Amino acid sequence: MELPHNLGNRVGILGGTFDPVHNGHLAVAEAVRQALALSSILFVPAFLPPHKPTYAISPFVHRTAMLELAVVDRTGFYVSRLEAEREGPSYSIDTLRTLKHALGKNVHLFFIIGMDAFAEVFTWKEQSGLLDHASFAVVGRLDHCRQSCGQTVAANFPGYTFVEALGSWQGEPNHGAIHPVAMAPIMVSSTEIREATRQGKTIRHLVPATVADYIEFHGLYR
Ligand code: ATP
Repeated sequence: MELPHNLGNRVGILGGTFDPVHNGHLAVAEAVRQALALSSILFVPAFLPPHKPTYAISPFVHRTAMLELAVVDRTGFYVSRLEAEREGPSYSIDTLRTLKHALGKNVHLFFIIGMDAFAEVFTWKEQSGLLDHASFAVVGRLDHCRQSCGQTVAANFPGYTFVEALGSWQGEPNHGAIHPVAMAPIMVSSTEIREATRQGKTIRHLVPATVADYIEFHGLYR
């Protein structure tokens, strides 16, 4: 597996379908990078998303190409193709394990996740094992980030308590922390972009210009 050489030792992992990547994804990545002083962000497109409905997902090559275009002028943002190298559905636990193994124990991974997805974390494969390999960065609305995140933590991660001085929930030693990251909501989704494109509406205010050009050139989402 090939990884960028200069990820540094505090690496944010943002997984998703990215069909297509949009300004919301980039804003989330920037917010977490700043809040937690991360050295880099690795975007990890799912090869076969396990949680997605059965709409026709665009080929991995298109989704990855759009991500590459979106990060090209952003220092410290990278794209990984590692989920295409694995057979079967793309489970976060497998990805974190692979990355941790490849990067070594001096690199701290931060698994970035929206508050909505975090609230569903109990449906994930080996949910509590995620914290063996990474910390969580849970991104949510400014006004109730701490509170809603706290409810999910209490229900799913017994043994985690909020430590004011660290601004995060802490569990057993050598396990990841759970960091709430407050961010104003960005009202955009990939679904909205696919739908707008299908209807011939502009999406140029929702994605980087290069991504809009790519979608047009390849006739995606028509
Ligand atoms: P779709 O509309 O196809 O379901 P999406 O826009 O939610 O897609 P994904 O690729 O599924 O995009 O998202 C990857 C990650 O980014 C998820 O953790 C998701 O919660 C988060 N995310 C997506 N859009 C936003 C947004 N506007 N604000 C905050 N987080 C977002």
